[in-house]
Amino acid sequence: MSSNRIYFFDTTLRDGEQSPGVSLNIKEKLEIARQLTRLGVDVIEAGFPIASPGDFAAVQAIAREIRGATIAALARANQLDIDRAWEAIREAEEPRIHTFIATSDIHLQYKLQKSREEVLAQAVEAVKYACRYTPNVEFSAEDAFRSDIDYLAQVVTAVIDAGAKVVNIPDTVGYATPEEFGAFIRELREKVPNRDQAIFSVHCHNDLGLAVANSLAAILAGAQQVECTINGIGERAGNAALEEIVMALYTRRSIFQKEFRIVTEEIYRTSRLVSALTGMKVQPNKAVVGKNAFAHESGIHQDGVLKNRATYEIMNPELIGLHKNTIVLGKHSGRHAFRDRLQQLGYQLEGEQLEQAFQRFKELADRKGEISDEDLLVIVEGEILRVPETYTLEYFHISSGSAVVPTATVVLTRAGERLEEAACGDGPVDAIYKAIDKLTGNTGCLVHYALNAVTGGKDALGEVTVRLKDDKGKIFVGRGLSTDVLEASARAYVDALNKLEYERALGLVNGEQVRESV
Ligand SMILES: [Zn+2]
Repeated sequence: MSSNRIYFFDTTLRDGEQSPGVSLNIKEKLEIARQLTRLGVDVIEAGFPIASPGDFAAVQAIAREIRGATIAALARANQLDIDRAWEAIREAEEPRIHTFIATSDIHLQYKLQKSREEVLAQAVEAVKYACRYTPNVEFSAEDAFRSDIDYLAQVVTAVIDAGAKVVNIPDTVGYATPEEFGAFIRELREKVPNRDQAIFSVHCHNDLGLAVANSLAAILAGAQQVECTINGIGERAGNAALEEIVMALYTRRSIFQKEFRIVTEEIYRTSRLVSALTGMKVQPNKAVVGKNAFAHESGIHQDGVLKNRATYEIMNPELIGLHKNTIVLGKHSGRHAFRDRLQQLGYQLEGEQLEQAFQRFKELADRKGEISDEDLLVIVEGEILRVPETYTLEYFHISSGSAVVPTATVVLTRAGERLEEAACGDGPVDAIYKAIDKLTGNTGCLVHYALNAVTGGKDALGEVTVRLKDDKGKIFVGRGLSTDVLEASARAYVDALNKLEYERALGLVNGEQVRESV
């Protein structure tokens, strides 16, 4: 293997999915995994199989379908976790067991209540046990950066001897600064005599906004694998953002001189997809993929960029797959044009899916006239990920105004049966949601509601994202799209309820969720 090669280990589906309020179903996880494969990541960490039946099923589905990337599953350093992880990924083209245990004294004392010797022995035993299933074993020392470096070096040396092919050094709590972290990785490598028999990896959290900087410092210090997520999502302040590391390595390649397999042109689409499915919006000023990242508002800058892009632009937006937003389709566009444009945007829709997306497109084009690429992407993301519908929104009527109590009448169908209810609320959206609750017997509660305009202008498509929490605390994200914000709101709510029903039908809603962080 070339020592200049950097391996990208994406943990959007494991660490990213642990972001507060994020919950992805199997369909959504598969769609993200497919896109991560197009993006060219080396390793997809698909989940933590022992955490819940839902996690297990998603990891297994990804392992069965995805080709062209290593599929990793997380396991604590014990046989039960490792058995379960292997069971989930065994059908992958290139499965990897990722086992971990904490090595910092603070974790040993308070979390594990174990001595250094006990943890060392457990780590070695876990790696040996995992190696009975596959030679592709990664070991992570949780809270590595706050561990005693000599003890950490001892653990790392021992797990490499035990067969670990990748050793991951996380800054689990996001405490390091770049110079310090680079020096830490360099020193650690020097203290590990068998360092050449394994790939050194880093996993940085963003509590001080330094996750990307720390990852880059580690690369300069000899790390060959970086663990990161799309849009930097993850617990608390998140993980290192994949797209930022990639574009730093590319844009400043004279400094880093590293090679990687990421297809940069897929970055923007991946970012959008993850944002849409997790309901975690990307901040406008976010590096690389934020809405404003390539927008030049100031007149002086605009003038400069028009004369020569290099005056104020260090990256070409086309490099990340961001193309000028051109209006391409209208209400007279046919199925063929629609499908062609989707193909150009990277979506292969066939049969029923194509038909449904096309119908949705026609409805919106009739109202809006012109449909931009941006609009198209939102339509497609919504349609291809629609779960089988238990409830379909047929009709709603609102009576509202400054002097009346808002009242909504809603009609849903369920298995061909027409259901109708009316309810009052504090506002029109509240009234609609109360009517839907009556119709569906929903007892979950709405914990988040957000409205976004997809593109500019008065006739912009409104996109509503809701998060619904069920009795057991599980979150379901629903999305709705329409030129009418009330309709978008109703659709989003029904979508969340359909996802809840979908998971119930799969039997994945029960059981405690085990949460672990690395
Ligand atoms: Zn983490």
